[in-house]
Amino acid sequence: MPFGNGDADARAKHCGYSPCRSADFAKSSAIPNARATDQCVRNIEGGPFALLTQAKSAYASEYPIWRIMWGHAQYEPNVSRRALPKDRAGSRLAPGRMTIAIAANTPGGSSPNAIAPADALKRLMEGNARYAANTPNERDFSSGRAARVRGQSPIAAILSCADSRVAPELAFDQGPGDLFIVRVAGNIVNPDLLASLEYGIEFLKVPLIMVLGHTGCGAVDAAIKVLKTGVVLPGHLPGLIAAIKPAVIIAQKRQSGNLLDNAVAENVRRQVARLKNSPPIVQKLYATKKIDIVGGVYDLATGKIAIV
Ligand SMILES: [Zn+2]
Repeated sequence: MPFGNGDADARAKHCGYSPCRSADFAKSSAIPNARATDQCVRNIEGGPFALLTQAKSAYASEYPIWRIMWGHAQYEPNVSRRALPKDRAGSRLAPGRMTIAIAANTPGGSSPNAIAPADALKRLMEGNARYAANTPNERDFSSGRAARVRGQSPIAAILSCADSRVAPELAFDQGPGDLFIVRVAGNIVNPDLLASLEYGIEFLKVPLIMVLGHTGCGAVDAAIKVLKTGVVLPGHLPGLIAAIKPAVIIAQKRQSGNLLDNAVAENVRRQVARLKNSPPIVQKLYATKKIDIVGGVYDLATGKIAIV
């Protein structure tokens, strides 16, 4: 039942965060990803990352349970004391009573992304078939906009190359809110992208990660040239290329096929393997089959994506 504007006690009990002035509460059924009873449907000012700081302060000074609102999600981390945040003096914040109450999806629940990883992959590949055939679904971008204000329930996270010719929403024929996309030249796993993917699968309950490379990748081609000629690239590019080099070295040992194509596919497989072995979040959710992690290569010539 929505709380009234004056029901401060109920809001505080519900949200656990005193600066939350939102009067917009609703039953969990109104929120795509919600599993708990009632949820605050508004984000607290500053967004989810600024919120960490706010919630840490609120937790330390006012509440026995550390509760963070991640957009639509209510988060009460069940963590060891070692993992608790420190205050400015370096002391661990007292844990109080820790429970998990992350708004989450369960298969069979009402959330749009409470689906099996295989079903998410099927929807992606069916969307790609529509895209390649130039028969995409008709879309009304304004419908659903109000619902998207309240939260997001993407069906897949995509780690894609930054190449302008590879547009995941288009290539998979998906709409706003359907894909959680992180992009970097050469679609490599680095700490920031890994953290973003962790956010997607842990808090948004995304059931599938796809690493998406593409034919004619300039980043992979640059790694080949660096290895062959020893050329030194400017700026921060050497660090990026270094992350791709191992895949090129493996591809160079292949007898058949085109080196660039082989290196692109090998790089995708390598990043998939890295994710599967990235503790603590991705590795655990993959090992327990909560998520799947696959690799794909987008063919610039045909628009088709092949699983590698
Ligand atoms: Zn590329």
